[in-house]
Amino acid sequence: MSDEEILRQKMIPDVTEFARQAAKRRGVGFCIGCGVYVKDWEGLTCCPNCGSASVPAGSDNQVAVEINWHELHVLCCWAERWGHQECGGAGVVYSIVQRLRAQHPDKGPLTLAADIQQIVDEHPGTQTNIPGVEGAEPLNDE
Ligand SMILES: [Zn+2]
Repeated sequence: MSDEEILRQKMIPDVTEFARQAAKRRGVGFCIGCGVYVKDWEGLTCCPNCGSASVPAGSDNQVAVEINWHELHVLCCWAERWGHQECGGAGVVYSIVQRLRAQHPDKGPLTLAADIQQIVDEHPGTQTNIPGVEGAEPLNDE
């Protein structure tokens, strides 16, 4: 067994259990749209904060995963594009990405919009039509 396999067997369950317990302390789960935790599902028909009726994320399903930041960037960019192209927007993707970025604020952007925003910030006056970028015009397919 390699060192990585030994480390993975020892650490991942502990990290996942830590994440699960931390989530449970905050509530039974949270709205994936706005990230607000709720203490109890009883009587709720939508998110008490944003009104979303989307399926919430239960604290019992909180996990820790090992992934390379570049892999995560690729997944988020694909999800972002799919959201804009097929779902009328990527609001939920941006909400999830916001929670991911908060876990590693030292890492770079995870979406194309954030990549482009960084360029716009560094080069004022740059024009773009990328959804999610400040001042961006909607794409023709939306
Ligand atoms: Zn919400």
